[in-house]
Amino acid sequence: MIYRPYGKTGKEVSVIGFGGMRFGKDEDYAAEVVRRANELGINYFDTAPFYCNDRSQDIFGKAFKKMPGQFYVSTKSSVNKEDTADKVRWRIEDSLMKMGLEKINFFHMWCIMDLNHYERVMTPGGAYEGALKAKEEGLIDHLVFSTHCKGEDIEKIINDDVFEGVLLGYNVINHPYRQRGVDAALKKGIGVVTMNPLGGGLIPQHKDYFSFLTEREGETVSQAALRFNAAQEGITVVLAGMSSIEEVEENVEVANHPITVSKEKYYEINSRLGEEMNSLCTTCGYCLKCPQKIMIHHYLEAYNLAILDGEEAMVRHLNWLKEIGTIKDTNPLPSECIACGACETLCTQKLPIIERLKAVDDIMNKKIG
Ligand code: SF4
Ligand code: SF4
Repeated sequence: MIYRPYGKTGKEVSVIGFGGMRFGKDEDYAAEVVRRANELGINYFDTAPFYCNDRSQDIFGKAFKKMPGQFYVSTKSSVNKEDTADKVRWRIEDSLMKMGLEKINFFHMWCIMDLNHYERVMTPGGAYEGALKAKEEGLIDHLVFSTHCKGEDIEKIINDDVFEGVLLGYNVINHPYRQRGVDAALKKGIGVVTMNPLGGGLIPQHKDYFSFLTEREGETVSQAALRFNAAQEGITVVLAGMSSIEEVEENVEVANHPITVSKEKYYEINSRLGEEMNSLCTTCGYCLKCPQKIMIHHYLEAYNLAILDGEEAMVRHLNWLKEIGTIKDTNPLPSECIACGACETLCTQKLPIIERLKAVDDIMNKKIG
């Protein structure tokens, strides 16, 4: 394993971090997966309330009881749920209790979507203040934030000097969109943890398309995508969601080889990216507050295929989603979008959802009739 200093915190963290949002139903096995990761050198474990139907922190708690290796824990509080200092305090105590810990090493102001959201976090008597007080009392080591903002906004937040690190969505597909945030963190010397390195599964699901990422014999597409993140200057940890021991072993292997991306490969990635790949939907589902109940992520995922493989591939995918019952005849169609814009405000990739739903509808009408 390779370890890197997390900003100025004095902590050395593993370049591959464990994301606790993909555990399966068997909690004993899930705890075993966590311990295997620690045995192989992973010492950064990221969780949050509500991950895995709110079981993630409990699973980590189970694992930590019998985990002899040294480790650091990261968890979160959302201003949408905990908007006062007292509520944040309750959340911290609840997380500590669930994980059997005396202290949280990295506590995130969770999922800041834009600068208005950030203002809400910083409101006097609010979430940030509650977390800061908990830090002063020794319940938290470091106060950090997680975000889906665009790079410019991340830069603004970092430049306020109120956080010791940032967790941001970054991968081969969307990296130009968040690069300014990473650069700002590098300049300030704070830690950067990246989430969603596999584009919400998009990269391993399109192995053939993304096979150009690999650089060494036997490297998998997922390993290449993790290596891409880990090789960027300024990035400290690459979080990977892991649900099996095999996945842990595959991901740890990344740190057993040189973590570099050749100049030629970087150039190739960027030239293939263009505007299109930079704007793929990662199916994160953050946009799903549609008053019309449109299953936006499924249609936008289908639109990804129109971008990657053409319109026929998109139609095939939609038909398959219908066959397996993911999209039912009773579900609202893309044409039922009333263009209210609620989803676009929430989109982590800032995609033109309304325009894309219209395009999906047009293609469906053209191909299916
Ligand atoms: S713009 Fe359309 S898809 Fe988006 S939330 Fe509004 S109705 Fe739903
Ligand atoms: S449209 Fe945006 S918010 Fe919705 S699933 Fe895709 S990337 Fe996520």
